[in-house]
Amino acid sequence: MLNIEDCMKTKILLDEINEAYPYMSMPASMDLTVHTHGCEYCADVRERLEAYRGLELDKTVYIFMRRNWGTLSPVGFLWFIPLYLRYCISLQWDDAEELIYFLVYSFDPLPESEDSSFIRLSLLSVKQIKCLIYFLEWCDENENYYESEVDTIKAFNFLHRLLMLKSS
Ligand SMILES: [Zn+2]
Repeated sequence: MLNIEDCMKTKILLDEINEAYPYMSMPASMDLTVHTHGCEYCADVRERLEAYRGLELDKTVYIFMRRNWGTLSPVGFLWFIPLYLRYCISLQWDDAEELIYFLVYSFDPLPESEDSSFIRLSLLSVKQIKCLIYFLEWCDENENYYESEVDTIKAFNFLHRLLMLKSS
């Protein structure tokens, strides 16, 4: 169901994303992933992404990346995250929800992978982290969003902790 209020909120969020994340072209292949050599997962991700160089990413690659989130380097993540956000909000909720819940879930890392999550997001500016918080708020306000699917409070806390690390 599309209502005017939701459309307005989505438009405001899109403007925030566009302002916080200026256009960035795909980083050099070797810079995309955490490992440059000896890791088949990272090699696979680089090959998949490389096929899209100069092209627009599509649903197949977003779904593929959702399963390979951990392979993205900080600069790979900085390039990828605004594309992912724009893609999610360009879809109807039903088509986007799996990608959206995954993203929120990724902001609630297990204790043992928390450090690598902070590192992955380490190149984001304060403005760019705030944009992720706006995205969470946008989800939270959507009538289709189920709190029970993911731990939204933990995701907010994670991003606020990241903000504090940035400003300290
Ligand atoms: Zn790897």
